[in-house]
Amino acid sequence: MIRVEDLHRHFGGFRAVDGASLTIETGSITGLIGPNGAGKSTLFNVIAGVLPPTSGRVYMDGQDITGLPPHELFHRGLLRTFQLAHEFASMSVRENLMMVPGGQTGETIWNTWFRRGQIAREEAELRRAADEVLDFLTISHLADEKAGNLSGGQKKLLELGRTMMVDAKVVFLDEVGAGVNRTLLGTIGDAIIRLNRERGYTFCVIEHDMDFIGKLCDPVIVMAEGKVLAEGTADEIMQNEEVIESYLGR
Ligand code: ADP
Ligand code: MG
Repeated sequence: MIRVEDLHRHFGGFRAVDGASLTIETGSITGLIGPNGAGKSTLFNVIAGVLPPTSGRVYMDGQDITGLPPHELFHRGLLRTFQLAHEFASMSVRENLMMVPGGQTGETIWNTWFRRGQIAREEAELRRAADEVLDFLTISHLADEKAGNLSGGQKKLLELGRTMMVDAKVVFLDEVGAGVNRTLLGTIGDAIIRLNRERGYTFCVIEHDMDFIGKLCDPVIVMAEGKVLAEGTADEIMQNEEVIESYLGR
């Protein structure tokens, strides 16, 4: 699905990503772990078009996607979740989901006046899609809640839900578990597994919790100092001497 070749992203003289090469297989839930500052988030941002690379290439299904803007990647089904934007906090959870697909007929004044019937149909369709997503994520009871009132974990579920409003192929999740309680982390993990099995989503997941990584991810890629240090099953990784020294040993 994704191939990264000798990717560099430097900030001034600092090499945040320093020649990383890796593959994310179609249909996998690939884990990405490594110490703070290893360059994981920077790598995600380059793949997802948020940051241009200093050098190196990124391919999706064999096509060169290096440096394409996020909206172009979004159309190709490559999504990176983001924390909910501030301005959406006062909108309901359902409305947040309905916003995602964009390009709806109602967005221009002209259309608002002349195509009311079609707009109403599209809204009903979007609302139905949003309610299906909420049901899938087991948070139907939060549909009318203001997004800003959700707990950290519920917000993560909503971020995941946003990827379900479009035809995603590969989803990049940065620290899904950060500040999330055990129960909700389980729910998030279940949703990821179901999306992978039932809808064929490929995932790349950054997470520090090794239990979570071990349950979900195969393979697991370890990054350190901007490079890929090791790759293998979670069990292999946890027994790898170099990995233990640089990361797990703490
Ligand atoms: P990780 O996600 O693995 O913790 P990051 O990719 O966030 O690591 O950061 C890698 C390194 O790059 C860190 O030392 C960080 O300070 C640096 N870095 C990240 N973004 C920037 C930036 N915009 N400007 C300067 N340095 C940055
Ligand atoms: Mg990070």
